[in-house]
Amino acid sequence: MRELYLFRNDLRLSDNPGLTAHAQGDALLCVYCWPTAPAWCNLTGMGAQRERFLRENLRALQAELEALGQGLLVLHTDPRVAIPELVDMFEIDRVGIGGANGHYEDQHLAALRERLQVPILAANNTTLYEGSQLPGGLDRLAKQFTPFRRAVENLPIATPLAAPASLPPPPAGARFRPIPAGAAKPHPAFPLRGGSAEAQRRLRQWMFERRLVGDYKHSRNYLDGLDGSSVLSPWLASGALSPRQAAFSLFKYEDANGRNESTEHLFMELLWREFFQWRARVDGILLFHPGGLRRRKQLKTFEARDFARWSQGETDSPLVNALMHQLTATGWMSNRGRQIAASYLINELNHDWRYGAAFFEKQLVDYDVGSNYGNWQYIAGVGTDPRGGRHFNIDKQASLYDPDGSFTAKWDGKRATQPRYINDAADWPIEQP
Ligand SMILES: Cc1cc2nc3c(=O)[nH]c(=O)nc-3n(C[C@H](O)[C@H](O)[C@H](O)COP(=O)(O)OP(=O)(O)OC[C@H]3O[C@@H](n4cnc5c(N)ncnc54)[C@H](O)[C@@H]3O)c2cc1C
Repeated sequence: MRELYLFRNDLRLSDNPGLTAHAQGDALLCVYCWPTAPAWCNLTGMGAQRERFLRENLRALQAELEALGQGLLVLHTDPRVAIPELVDMFEIDRVGIGGANGHYEDQHLAALRERLQVPILAANNTTLYEGSQLPGGLDRLAKQFTPFRRAVENLPIATPLAAPASLPPPPAGARFRPIPAGAAKPHPAFPLRGGSAEAQRRLRQWMFERRLVGDYKHSRNYLDGLDGSSVLSPWLASGALSPRQAAFSLFKYEDANGRNESTEHLFMELLWREFFQWRARVDGILLFHPGGLRRRKQLKTFEARDFARWSQGETDSPLVNALMHQLTATGWMSNRGRQIAASYLINELNHDWRYGAAFFEKQLVDYDVGSNYGNWQYIAGVGTDPRGGRHFNIDKQASLYDPDGSFTAKWDGKRATQPRYINDAADWPIEQP
């Protein structure tokens, strides 16, 4: 049998049941389609750091596949066009599709099911649990986190699979090009690189060598550096690390060192991710709707200059400015920072939350549709927050999480010099003769 496997948010060989299901055929073509999306909220493309991290993930995956006599075909084409062409060209008998939870990702899968005459196996390899394990199934998925957590936290989690020892060869005639490294380098403040081996290294160092997980409940609010939260999100989002691998490492740590509030808290955060993964499946296009899952009308606006100042880090808040500089320079921001920056855009600038979410989508090395749009909706009060949204007092946040101002100073968080509104002659329409 000649098979094709389309990697999506599962860029790894180990604990990848989607790929393993195609390890027995006569030939296997491994493919990845670079994300191509039309302009959304006036933004297009990927920020330099997000692109760098994706390239590194793909180059690492390509090298791992090559070590098994395989290759990775990376195409800059919509999978709905590329995959049917490849199926014809290489006379493929069966197609496997990696996991990716989201409305457009579902549309891709549905279109391929319609267009292809060959069987398709869609993998669920981006979550801790199987859909069939969810009490009540997807139709009765909890709308809020706490009931979701209670329903799933004691369910068994399947042991992560080893990487396949061998894979079938690529079909004759398949040509693989090396993936260029790209121009961007990691920022010295965030020197992490893509690839499964790098994910395992971070996990080992943070959890087992430095045992920072033991104090995670306190340190997760650090705004900067790599000594706070796990910073596993960039690999979890791309799938270079599976959530089961992260969870089983945590269980191993707990077996050796004991369980405490911090280890329990980390598991709870993995469940937050799980919650947003499944919600993204269920909520579909509502994830991008201004009124969110609640379909709640918003008296919000889009104001181009406010949005430009927020995204460039030139607002009236030095802390928000520092956070936005950190994001664009490194591609990362802590959870606390994301909450502060999002609340500022939504509540102080009275802005449509979707523009902020789109800017984060462009920049974040850990961009994940469910977690990003789900968290933005939560803060905007149109999503899963039972309290109807979060409005952070920015000065209080600064005194709690940057009391000596060192974070703000490091990321050049000065107050912007220009006034909030500028009206000059250029703002007035001039009648053309
Ligand atoms: C406005 C906003 C946008 C966000 N956008 C994204 C995004 O695009 N991608 C993304 O992965 N996370 C997103 N988050 C969630 C969270 O900020 C990041 O997952 C977290 O900061 C990543 O750092 P970490 O790996 O050190 O997390 P840790 O605190 O070490 O947590 C471990 C893992 O749990 C998961 N997790 C933790 N907090 C959350 C959360 N609130 N929601 C969902 N999963 C969580 C992540 O997979 C994370 O890697 C967003 C949060 C906010 C407030």
